[in-house]
Amino acid sequence: MIEEKGILFVLSGPSGVGKGTVRKALFEKDTALQYSISMTTRQKRAGEQEAVDYFYRTKDEFKSMIEENQLLEYAEYVGNYYGTPRKYVEETLAKGNDVFLEIEVQGALQVKENFPEGVFVFLSPPSLEELKNRIVSRGTESDALVTNRLQAAKDEIQLMDAYDYVVVNDQVDKAVEKVQAIVKSEHCKRERV
Ligand code: 5GP
Repeated sequence: MIEEKGILFVLSGPSGVGKGTVRKALFEKDTALQYSISMTTRQKRAGEQEAVDYFYRTKDEFKSMIEENQLLEYAEYVGNYYGTPRKYVEETLAKGNDVFLEIEVQGALQVKENFPEGVFVFLSPPSLEELKNRIVSRGTESDALVTNRLQAAKDEIQLMDAYDYVVVNDQVDKAVEKVQAIVKSEHCKRERV
């Protein structure tokens, strides 16, 4: 079987849709995928850890990374920067391993420009009402931030058509199964003897 480079999978969609939950459940089942840990300037939330959830950096440190072209993509999202370190992604793909990014929509569209061969999956809420419930019940955001995130979500949903696949996250295990099926089918697409 000839499959040289790894495949870049990008899971994206509005904040609060459950990307993190789906990604963690997926990684419990699929150990072949390599998760790219993002860099962010936002504050660490309770329970989060450096170099597990994110690399936490100051705005100045983040800006230096941008200037040195060390980020594959980045976005400013609700007052903070988030970005994907380029080196890890390129090296992991070159070794023949799949890389999995979990990022917001502006960043995913930038990745698509640089890596059109990547596989882009939009995780969608069953409805905007349900998305609002999820953001509020997570309880990590103030009212103003909930409103901002919901507005961002409405804008992001407009961009769904740019993706290869849409997975509706009404039940986490069903959504994980669908993402696993996408991973398998993308490998079959590229397999040659
Ligand atoms: P949170 O603050 O809830 O952890 O993340 C906010 C948003 O930023 C989420 O939609 C998350 O997927 C996204 N995000 C996380 N890492 C990255 C990244 O490296 N690049 C971009 N563009 N978005 C990211």
